[in-house]
Amino acid sequence: MTAKIKRTFKYRIYPNREQKSILETWLDICRVLYNDCLTERRDAWDISQKYISYYDQCNQLREIKTFDNEIKEVHSQVIQNVLKRIDKSFKNFFRRVKRREKAGYPRYKGKDRYDSFTYPQSGFKLEDKKLILSKIGSVNIKKHRDIPEDAKIKTCTIERELDRWYACFTVEIEIEEPNYEAITNPIGIDLGISHLITLSNGDMEDNPRYLVRSEGKLKRRQKKLSKSKKQSNNRTKRRFEVVKTHRTVRDQRTDLLHKISRSLVNTYDLIVFEDLKIRNMLKNHHLAKSISDVSWSQLTNFVSYKAEEAGKRVEFVNPRNTSLECSNCGKIVKKPLSQRTHKCPFCGLVMDRDKNAAINILNRGLRKSKGFSICQKSSIFEQLKNVGQELSEFKPEDFSKRRMIQEAPML
Ligand SMILES: [Zn+2]
Repeated sequence: MTAKIKRTFKYRIYPNREQKSILETWLDICRVLYNDCLTERRDAWDISQKYISYYDQCNQLREIKTFDNEIKEVHSQVIQNVLKRIDKSFKNFFRRVKRREKAGYPRYKGKDRYDSFTYPQSGFKLEDKKLILSKIGSVNIKKHRDIPEDAKIKTCTIERELDRWYACFTVEIEIEEPNYEAITNPIGIDLGISHLITLSNGDMEDNPRYLVRSEGKLKRRQKKLSKSKKQSNNRTKRRFEVVKTHRTVRDQRTDLLHKISRSLVNTYDLIVFEDLKIRNMLKNHHLAKSISDVSWSQLTNFVSYKAEEAGKRVEFVNPRNTSLECSNCGKIVKKPLSQRTHKCPFCGLVMDRDKNAAINILNRGLRKSKGFSICQKSSIFEQLKNVGQELSEFKPEDFSKRRMIQEAPML
């Protein structure tokens, strides 16, 4: 059985001066059209409570094209996609209203807030070192990784990022429906701040020093920006600096997370994380963490899609008490955040706090996962043995009484 999945591939492109100016012009035409469509919808509603749909606006477009030469310059599908975007932002708005969430009416886009346009089906052709864009020409492109040969390219979005340009392709890949039976090498992962991740086998990955350094730089530059005078040249310069540093931090982090996620997916066949949505609700007020937050969700995303492609499995479990529960006896051992070691007064287990949490996460994932019974005798068992060795008085036969294995038949 095969299944289709969607992926995005982002490459840097190098338009020449002439092409750059066309790209800039197109962005501007799209932006003005976007804002006009927004006005039309808003006025129709305010004045006559009339709802204007995507199709209404598409029909008008034909008429507009007869007299508006600028719009004719832009590839027709790109223009149509602008109408799709406005439709989408209204649909999202109505959905939020319906759910009684904070709604936020669709907003007008200023010059620096409209940075991309999309060829939704055709009008582009990707070659080895060139991207051929209809009405723009052949643009140099650097493909740092290849799109799989059998993948179908669906859309191409051209993005401006400050002084750089990118092309993003969404592609559809056909993968074998994975066979989840044979889990033999599972791992639990605790996400943290001092250690980016701690694995249930005790391995750790720290935030590398260069990343911490760049993050520090970013903070300092943001401070400078907020102190600079509004609407001054200096402020523009500072803003540019901040955005650039942001980009450096982001690129470094993405690189690192790609490496970590690749190695996790290559090594393990069940990877268990805490569910970040629940975790944020539980722990948010403790942690100063905007940057870690980004890393965590990015890492779980990367692992999820790489695992999907490789036919490996990812579980997300409730993070409640994962750092307090004893991974050996299951009792709750209260400890402040500053205490880095888990010492269980009930069973005597002494272990690094994060590793204890990672084992709890692994156990919860295994309980959720159907492949469990197959792997009891393999490397999970090895991992558990390692847990046992840190007990002050450890007897091998204790394994049979372990909570996790006792619970296994309930699955
Ligand atoms: Zn214990």
